[in-house]
Amino acid sequence: MRISVIGCGYLGAVHAACMAKLGHEVVGIDVDERKISSLSAAQAPFFEPGLEELLKNVQETGRLSFTSDMSAAAGSSVHFICVGTPQKKGENGADLRYVDAAMETLLPHVRPGDVVVGKSTVPVGTAARLADILSEHQPEAHLVWNPEFLREGHAVTDTLSPDRLVYGVADGSEDHAAVSVLDEVYASPLADGTPRLVTDHPTAELVKAAANSFLATKISFINAMAEVCEAAGADVTRLADAIGMDDRIGRKFLNAGIGFGGGCLPKDIRAFMARAGELGADQALTFLREVDSINMRRRTRVVELTRELCGGSLLGQRITVLGAAFKPESDDVRDSPALSIAAQLQLQGAVVTVTDPKALENAAKRFPELQYEQAIDTAIAGADALLLLTEWQQYKELDPYEVGSSVASLRILDGRNVLDAAKWRAAGWQFRGLGRP
Ligand code: NAD
Repeated sequence: MRISVIGCGYLGAVHAACMAKLGHEVVGIDVDERKISSLSAAQAPFFEPGLEELLKNVQETGRLSFTSDMSAAAGSSVHFICVGTPQKKGENGADLRYVDAAMETLLPHVRPGDVVVGKSTVPVGTAARLADILSEHQPEAHLVWNPEFLREGHAVTDTLSPDRLVYGVADGSEDHAAVSVLDEVYASPLADGTPRLVTDHPTAELVKAAANSFLATKISFINAMAEVCEAAGADVTRLADAIGMDDRIGRKFLNAGIGFGGGCLPKDIRAFMARAGELGADQALTFLREVDSINMRRRTRVVELTRELCGGSLLGQRITVLGAAFKPESDDVRDSPALSIAAQLQLQGAVVTVTDPKALENAAKRFPELQYEQAIDTAIAGADALLLLTEWQQYKELDPYEVGSSVASLRILDGRNVLDAAKWRAAGWQFRGLGRP
């Protein structure tokens, strides 16, 4: 099939490459010329495991190209919309201007029978609005909402082998003409047994909002338990192991730490609350306000604990933050808890150096006031305290004796509860975890 993918960021670039891998002829379109020239040279414009190899591999087949010219969408029968939907400045709601602009520039190229597929995360009601705009322009084209569930760091495998596929179509019917078109697009994962659910437009949009709200709630739940554990002298990691053994609860997403961040969960729960308010259903989601504030409290708590660890004052303390990305295996620093903590520490008088294997370039653009050091050895030399804030594998494997020989003081805070506290303490370190004695 001929497919266009509009918006080639973390979602769209991976989606375009994976669709070509599945055998389709794909054009990726983005307004960002720098991204387009990088992708055209088979270079990933951001770090995502496996993406660059995939780009090289599929571009050799001639099935994948990139351009900033929207007219390249003409001739495709399926058009995926993958543009950003960030939080509006100073408000909780989602900024839909990129979705609207993408739709407007796409419209002249849509032919009868074409399927426009929204993948961006949008407030419920957006699909119906866009479907109206589409049908005014091209009554014989269809609009499907096909929310995306990929995880950064696993985006390629998640796209090629998703847990499930959700198609939101206008009438919610399995017989809708667009369903068979999308079945052809996803023929390979469907043949491998990926479950597929057909819903109406609002249900498909809400599936994504609900999934992200559930994940955020699960993280904030265990972080709330961490607060109580700290007050009671209990250990949240053992608590999570024990409750996670109950099948109804499950151990995944029960890791207490510095909380969630990134370009999705924080803005998506806020946009969901804002939209529920517009619909007169705000009471239903008041718990998400608490989920958000528990999450933000973790960041303040780490600053407090670091001050304690440094003997009561941060002034002049040389602190090394291990990790800048919002999660490991990614260079994405959007709403990164690690960087937010680093910036707060610096504001309170500490001298902060941040290290990260992949995310320093992005970090320096957002927080130019912090110091950055790529090499971990140089970053930790002479430090008064270490903070592990993004759980990259290489930080989990640090040897307390080796690290101990280059820091100024043996103090470490494990913001992700991934280090063996007993081992670090045995090596003479003052060790702090979150929600652990
Ligand atoms: P991103 O900022 O990395 O990418 C968005 C891209 O859209 C940018 O490259 C931008 O230049 C481009 N763009 C903006 N306006 C355009 C236009 N009019 N025409 C063509 N291109 C345009 O964002 P992202 O992380 O890829 O997220 C995209 C959407 O997918 C969001 O709604 C997000 O919530 C959702 N989503 C993201 C993930 C994820 O893990 N990143 C997962 C699931 C869903």
